[in-house]
Amino acid sequence: MSAEATNPDSPPELRRRGRARLDLRRLGRAALLGPTARDRLPDAIGHVAEAHRAHHPDADLSVLRRAYVLAESSHRGQTRKSGEPYITHPLAVTLILAELGAETTTLTASLLHDTVEDTDVTLDQVRAGFGDEVAFIVDGVTKLEKVDYGAAAEPETFRKMLVATGNDVRVMSIKLADRLHNMRTLGVMRPDKQVRIATVTRDVLIPLAERLGVQALKTELEDLVFAILHPEEYEHTRALIAAHAAEGDPLPAIADSVRAVLRDAGIQAEVLIRPRHFVSVHRVARKRGELRGSDFGRLLVLVAENADCYAALGELHTCFTPVVSEFKDFVAAPKFNLYQSLHTAVATPEGVIAEVIVRTRQMHRVAEAGVVALGNPYTSAPAAPGDPDEERVDPTRPGWLRRLLEWQQSAPDPDTFWSSLREDLAQDREITVFLADGAAPGTISLPAGATCIDAAYAQHGEAAHGCIGARVNGRLTSLASTLADGDTVQLLLGSDPAAGPAADWLEHARTPAARIAISGWLRAHPGSTRPAQAAPRAPLTVVNLRPGSGNAVADLPDAPVRLAGCCTPVPPDAVAGFVVRGGAVTVHRVECAVAGQMRSLGRSPVAVHWRGAADFRVTLVAESFGRPHLLADLTEAIARMHVEVISATVDPPVEGRVRHTYTLHLRDAATLPALMRAMRDVPGVYDVGRA
Ligand code: MN
Repeated sequence: MSAEATNPDSPPELRRRGRARLDLRRLGRAALLGPTARDRLPDAIGHVAEAHRAHHPDADLSVLRRAYVLAESSHRGQTRKSGEPYITHPLAVTLILAELGAETTTLTASLLHDTVEDTDVTLDQVRAGFGDEVAFIVDGVTKLEKVDYGAAAEPETFRKMLVATGNDVRVMSIKLADRLHNMRTLGVMRPDKQVRIATVTRDVLIPLAERLGVQALKTELEDLVFAILHPEEYEHTRALIAAHAAEGDPLPAIADSVRAVLRDAGIQAEVLIRPRHFVSVHRVARKRGELRGSDFGRLLVLVAENADCYAALGELHTCFTPVVSEFKDFVAAPKFNLYQSLHTAVATPEGVIAEVIVRTRQMHRVAEAGVVALGNPYTSAPAAPGDPDEERVDPTRPGWLRRLLEWQQSAPDPDTFWSSLREDLAQDREITVFLADGAAPGTISLPAGATCIDAAYAQHGEAAHGCIGARVNGRLTSLASTLADGDTVQLLLGSDPAAGPAADWLEHARTPAARIAISGWLRAHPGSTRPAQAAPRAPLTVVNLRPGSGNAVADLPDAPVRLAGCCTPVPPDAVAGFVVRGGAVTVHRVECAVAGQMRSLGRSPVAVHWRGAADFRVTLVAESFGRPHLLADLTEAIARMHVEVISATVDPPVEGRVRHTYTLHLRDAATLPALMRAMRDVPGVYDVGRA
């Protein structure tokens, strides 16, 4: 778990791998020396004990010693393909888990994980010597070994895996560490076998590591697979990284200024540089076409408390120029795998853009080690005190696994379930959307390509059957619309409790939860579906929430005021301000998720009102189908509302459609919604919004 690498030409994964190989050589030698006296810790397990003590100072090491002695004696005489004594393998697997902070029980089972499968040791012996829990885990790993990965991407493989693990993620943790060690030592295999194993790792084990949040294992597995399946691109990436190291990295200087900014603000933080792993460099290179000097790593800001994350972010966004499109809040909305962090990018005065991750040390531990770091599943105390999130209370069943079991129960047949699951596992990208529902605003994570239908089922469960429409970023749109990262979605539920989904919803649902719920309803209600809405209807209502013309004034004399970029408040929105660094006030719409977050962190809002809100100008754009007298009808509708037209522009028709732009003078800002409604009611007009 190297959180930091100060040497940019040496990615942490490579250093870790190098160190692990050294350890293995030492372990191999120690194991060759044979069993050691029972009164002292066998040398070979010393590294495991050391790594374990670093995370768990009070751990009882005697049980590890006993497990090692049993494993070593039962594997004695067996060798790995490399010629090394077999015991080096369970030792290396256990060391990986110990470094990630796994509990003693997991480590004990890990030392013994191949004994029942490959030696004379029986499960009963394991149970008698180490208890039910260790025996249960060893049994799970043994069964998992028997799962045939031959048809890696087949749903059947996942089904067997899930059954074999007995829903205990510790079994999967051992399996992942086992695969990592096997991948590290894959060089001794025939090339065709290397490719086969690497393919299974890519299709099954890496998605699993991602789902379980074990970032440290996932990134190393990715690089190992990359080197085997794409040797030329791997070599090219290696050359890029080497060339970059020779040129000099701009990140250390930026890290220094970030440290200074945070120090000045009195925020205690550690600022590290994290080089990207090979696959990550390769992805960025593909995405951008050309790599910038600052693309080879990211800044990692580690703070003590959740609230410090936002404080640090505020400083960064004030003292540097933020790249707003890069901002993601995984603190307020953790990913399905419990990952939490704030992501942003900032530009220095010289225009160098650096990506920054802000998280607490606890979040860092979870990000690196995922479920492995969550502690003993049999203690009921939440990992994060006061955190009501049940996924933290019961780490043996993280959200993904629990949802999986729920789908399994509600799926009509195994095929539906497993094909849904395979799709879910294959999705490697996620988007976060903001929910604008008045009652429960918040954010949800969805797979890339998800539609409003997916958002509806994710948010409302079966109640989503009655969904009649959605607004995305304020615009009324078809439920089939694909969502983009950062979209704000408002789901409109109908009042008919018996309403069901339209038949075409299934085509537009991307998430297993939505697909299974819809097909379940359709099966239960044959012939009673709503008419399909295959063709997205033209948007009917538009209120574009863009930065407005409005001047906000805070109830703090002389405080500079700025409008938040996240919710782009405009008059006459209800707004609240929050004091940020230097006494400036940032203005959010009251329903903005960020404002909610600030309030829940105990930040008291400052009253803000719109200057001249009772008498203001607004520019509206009306989109219409072209027809005679349109201009006259629109201006008449405006005049009937007692609104003065300052200027009007009519663009030339394009494909039968025209755009009118009116700059208007309103005596009362509160009349704006009624005015827009009146304009929308003019025949032919399908869209009215603010310019
Ligand atoms: Mn093994």
